[in-house]
Amino acid sequence: MKSFPSHDFRRIPLYRDVSDAEWNDWRWQMRNAIRDIDTLARVMRIDDAERTDLEQTLDRFRMAITPYYASIMDHDYRLCSVRLQAVPSIRELEHDQSDMDDPLHEDLDSTVPGLTHRYPDRVLLLVTRICSMNCRHCTRRRLVGQTDTAISQENLDRAIDYIRDHTEVRDVLISGGDPLTLATDRLEEILRRIHAIDHVEIIRIGSRTPVVMPMRITDELVAMLRRYHPIYVNTHFNHYDEITAEAQAACARLADAGIPLGNQSVLLRDVNDCPRIMKRLVHDLLMIRVKPYYIYQCDLTRGISHFRTSLSKGIEIIESLRGHTSGMAVPTFVVDAPGGGGKIPIGPNYLVSHSDRRYVLRNYEGVLATYTQPSNIFSECWCELCREAAQKPDATEGVAGLLDGSAIALEPSDLRRRSRSKRTTG
Ligand SMILES: *Cc1c(COP(=O)(O)O)cnc(C)c1O
Ligand code: SF4
Repeated sequence: MKSFPSHDFRRIPLYRDVSDAEWNDWRWQMRNAIRDIDTLARVMRIDDAERTDLEQTLDRFRMAITPYYASIMDHDYRLCSVRLQAVPSIRELEHDQSDMDDPLHEDLDSTVPGLTHRYPDRVLLLVTRICSMNCRHCTRRRLVGQTDTAISQENLDRAIDYIRDHTEVRDVLISGGDPLTLATDRLEEILRRIHAIDHVEIIRIGSRTPVVMPMRITDELVAMLRRYHPIYVNTHFNHYDEITAEAQAACARLADAGIPLGNQSVLLRDVNDCPRIMKRLVHDLLMIRVKPYYIYQCDLTRGISHFRTSLSKGIEIIESLRGHTSGMAVPTFVVDAPGGGGKIPIGPNYLVSHSDRRYVLRNYEGVLATYTQPSNIFSECWCELCREAAQKPDATEGVAGLLDGSAIALEPSDLRRRSRSKRTTG
């Protein structure tokens, strides 16, 4: 089987005298994150023009690069995909008309500070603002690296009370910042309290540490996590150059503890906006036992407009994967809707045409096939779940509710036609 590279950190003069024990200690990595230009200049060559640009950018945004991540950057190549995600660019100061501070309304829609309940059955809990790294493309820049704090005990208590009171919440996503920057016992307290709630079925943790600080995935952490199964971990690889022997070992420790791993990439201009790069990335991910889950269209967050691609690029990438490679390797391309609408999947169209009887579908090769529907296509379901649901006629939300008869129309609350009819009839 293919093996992934390990980069010798001691080739960087600044780290020549660092011991293996220090390097492999995640707290050492966090303490020694590169936060200023002089330290960065000891890791890679920076000319005067770059220094001026960096000074200006760092006035507005912060930098933090773990020594580990710095050791996998190509120090001579400006367009290195790893470096572009770590080293600030003057282009972060560009303003685009569509930029927003909180495009996903995560603050606006939060019920309790740190908790967003957007979908019917699951919540997002932001447990810390701290990250080991400040990714240049971060969508939560408004939180990350401004004030370094974990969630307060009071807000954590309120969030847990909320989850306990809302019996429909069966899935809790723990994110941040990066939850794995918390001390293991602090994270354990959060997991233990969530796990103790009867109606919570699964816990998911979103963390970039397997990519930017794989030494965080210690045996001690993994032994703790497995006490709170079913636990899922979603991580965030954007380019195959991030998949190193160390990252592979970190993912293996998690997977060996029975934790299913998923990956959420962000489509980033000049980093991974290429079908060939993405194909190699998803293949390499499967080799380290990580299932590609989502590719996100880059958000409208302020300061990242230079990373944005067209939506078509994502569609092109999915077109290049589906059918061409293992279905297991194909993620869903999503746009996180500005305004808090949530993730909306988009992709190539496979439905070409249809009549009452026949559907014309195309495959990845461009072959057109017909699927003839049974002559009696109407079906009614009598399963026990549908019989139960029939007792609660408006149970289904959204478009699915239009299909199952829960509602006959969905209307905006400020529909003008409605206010006109109220005026004339009222
Ligand atoms: C992404 C997200 C989720 C989880 O979405 P899935 O599609 O279930 O992975 C839940 N809540 C919020 C606010 C999110 O942004
Ligand atoms: S790890 Fe995630 S939250 Fe933290 S800076 Fe990177 S993208 Fe943002």
